[in-house]
Amino acid sequence: MIQIDALPAFTDNYIWLLQDNANKRCAVVDPGDAAPVLAWLARHPDWQLSDILITHHHADHVGGVAELKKLTGAKVYGPANEHIPARDVTLQDNDEVTVLGLTFAVHAVPGHTLGHIAFYHENSQRPLLFCGDTLFAAGCGRLFEGTPEQMHHSLSRLAKLPDSTLVYCAHEYTLSNLRFAVAVEPSNPDVTARFEQVTRWREEDRISLPSTLELERKTNPFLRASQPSVKQKADERTGTDNTSPVAVFAALRAWKDKF
Ligand code: ZN
Ligand code: FE
Repeated sequence: MIQIDALPAFTDNYIWLLQDNANKRCAVVDPGDAAPVLAWLARHPDWQLSDILITHHHADHVGGVAELKKLTGAKVYGPANEHIPARDVTLQDNDEVTVLGLTFAVHAVPGHTLGHIAFYHENSQRPLLFCGDTLFAAGCGRLFEGTPEQMHHSLSRLAKLPDSTLVYCAHEYTLSNLRFAVAVEPSNPDVTARFEQVTRWREEDRISLPSTLELERKTNPFLRASQPSVKQKADERTGTDNTSPVAVFAALRAWKDKF
């Protein structure tokens, strides 16, 4: 059994901590800061950090890697097509990597950055997805390097994973994403209900993650570009007929950038 907890970092990052309780070994995903991980290890002195998984090269995801590797000897896995400090293993699309006994399939998901990857563990009951800054709860990453076509394709690929997949994103952006989702789909009862729920959770300082792919398909406007009502909103916004889901997606992303 692997237990997964969030270690908060900076203002809204989560470093996901995977714990193998039987062997007292752990792994982290995207440690942008070494300090929260080192603090956890100091509170658990008989545990060993064995592996570090990286989704993309941004500083808030890799800033702690070199120090953690130096202090713990952890093995660093990261995307082949980006500069990742202290990386030991380069990962390409469709590679497999086994960490703490869990095998993850690597999915190339360009858009936020060009080399961005996601880690997917297939499990009939609770598949796991660590998707960095590609898919967020009710949102998606900004297009810093890639095109709308690339990001739409990447999100469509993730959206095909099973309903029950637990989605571990790297930021607590859910509430602001849902404000936007309500603007796009004011008549979607799932969006309204989720907005109310996450508003309560955040008032209680409760984390809004992980999400599930079922919930994302129902409430994430960036996975809903094929819905007629979403297209209509995008058309109103751009004043044009966005004939393809990619064009709708691009209109939504540009709108959200200024929202
Ligand atoms: Zn990023
Ligand atoms: Fe980030």
